[in-house]
Amino acid sequence: MASFAPSPADVADIGVTGMAVMGSNLARNFARNGFKVALHNRSVGKTEKVMDDHSADGEFYPSESMSDFVASLQKPRVAIIMVKAGKPTDAVIDELASLMEEGDIIVDAGNALFGDTRRREADLREKGLHFVGSGVSGGEEGALNGPSIMPGGTKQSYERLGPMLEKISAHVDGEPCCTHVGADGAGHFVKMVHNGIEYADMQVISEAYDLMSKALGKNAGEIGDVFAEWNKGDLESFLIEITAEVLHHTDVTSGKPFVDVILDRAAQKGTGAWTVQTALDLGVPVTGIAEATFARSVSGSTPQREAGLKVLPAEAQTLEIADEAQFIDDLQKALYAAKLVSYSQGFDEIAAGAEEFGWDIDLGAMARIWRGGCIIRARFLNRITEAYERDAKLPLLLSDEYFTTEIAKCIPAWRRVVAFAAASGYPVPVFASTLSYYDAVRSERLPAALVQAQRDYFGAHTYQRVDAEGTFHVEWSEDRRETKQD
Ligand code: NAP
Repeated sequence: MASFAPSPADVADIGVTGMAVMGSNLARNFARNGFKVALHNRSVGKTEKVMDDHSADGEFYPSESMSDFVASLQKPRVAIIMVKAGKPTDAVIDELASLMEEGDIIVDAGNALFGDTRRREADLREKGLHFVGSGVSGGEEGALNGPSIMPGGTKQSYERLGPMLEKISAHVDGEPCCTHVGADGAGHFVKMVHNGIEYADMQVISEAYDLMSKALGKNAGEIGDVFAEWNKGDLESFLIEITAEVLHHTDVTSGKPFVDVILDRAAQKGTGAWTVQTALDLGVPVTGIAEATFARSVSGSTPQREAGLKVLPAEAQTLEIADEAQFIDDLQKALYAAKLVSYSQGFDEIAAGAEEFGWDIDLGAMARIWRGGCIIRARFLNRITEAYERDAKLPLLLSDEYFTTEIAKCIPAWRRVVAFAAASGYPVPVFASTLSYYDAVRSERLPAALVQAQRDYFGAHTYQRVDAEGTFHVEWSEDRRETKQD
């Protein structure tokens, strides 16, 4: 028997089912913003706990059963699901859908793969229900105090849902960090790429830390000071800020710098891999995100690392760093340039997804709603919005005049950092892969010509010529004459 009275019918503005950390914080955020919030959880204990600990946050209407929860919602009903992603989400959707009526809205605010969201949206559309897959970024802190919210679904559902989501989202310069992203799975797609960019950002920051630690011999606190300084400039961002804080933290057990007692195996929950897998399907080179995701895999490849550590020679030159301040300045510039490339690649993926799935996504607005609440919030996101305001169809974010100017200031430093790391034997997968990508997209001619020739040789895959229209093939095993294909 629940320790709360049954809630009245048709009373709540919005409901949240799933009272673990994310769902309860989101519900409290709605309540603190003046909304009447229906609460539900599979096991009633979590709902009771929210009522016991947080009822002062606002008007809550808890229910023990899903049917009472649905009955407590004002029509058209809006129910947000915040449960474990995957099968549990499907189970809750089925239960909710069986209780809801035409025009009602089911929102999945968990981390779903956008393909699942597209499937669920199509299923529920047939039943006359709106299904909104919504990205929510900012972790538990953001859910409570203002996340960045990326809802997909129909425009019609956004008219009912949007004002509430905008109110509880983070705000920057008076603007909400929430907007309608696009139809069906667009919101979860954008959230996925957001997480991929987060992977690249975190990895390249860690590479800068690694070089300061190994090449300059600085301790964690000293490196924390550098990041704190960088946070006052173009690199100002949540991730740089928390990096400084983490590096300044001392482990309570050992008294050592906290970072030094953490096992160097980076875990992942899968959104980085989704971003890369989707990019491969779409043919979009997101090299920074991919290398960042693989860097976590390398870190966790214990048998390979143990074998490599024992026998692989370094054959590295120990390069002298004559000017420490110059080296740190180089790292700062390389970090900024690598970060710009990672974001540019991420925006390419969003543009390609929009094209493939027929979403009308305003790329500038995506950068705008990432300015607050989310993990990749950063000063320079305004610059991305401005670039897409100048040209909404910009084929390459880096080609905007602001970014070409900024990157030009960083290139010599970026090359010095990558060259130094390669010669000295330090792994810098994101610094290096983003530079290679940069050099590839600005190259007049790529060695892809030779790849095409090889493909034609062993597989008759054909090629095109620089000096004639059409598709060609060489009869390699015969007289090597060239034939034109239809
Ligand atoms: P979680 O640990 O992922 O899931 C626990 C919740 O799911 C509990 O309420 C649990 O109910 C419920 N649940 C599990 N299986 C169920 C089933 N078969 N039927 C009904 N309910 C079921 O919770 P969380 O950490 O708060 O995360 C919720 C969602 O947000 C997830 O999709 C997660 O990926 C996402 N998330 C997002 C962020 C972010 O920054 N945006 C951060 C963390 C998580 P019981 O109490 O009855 O077991």
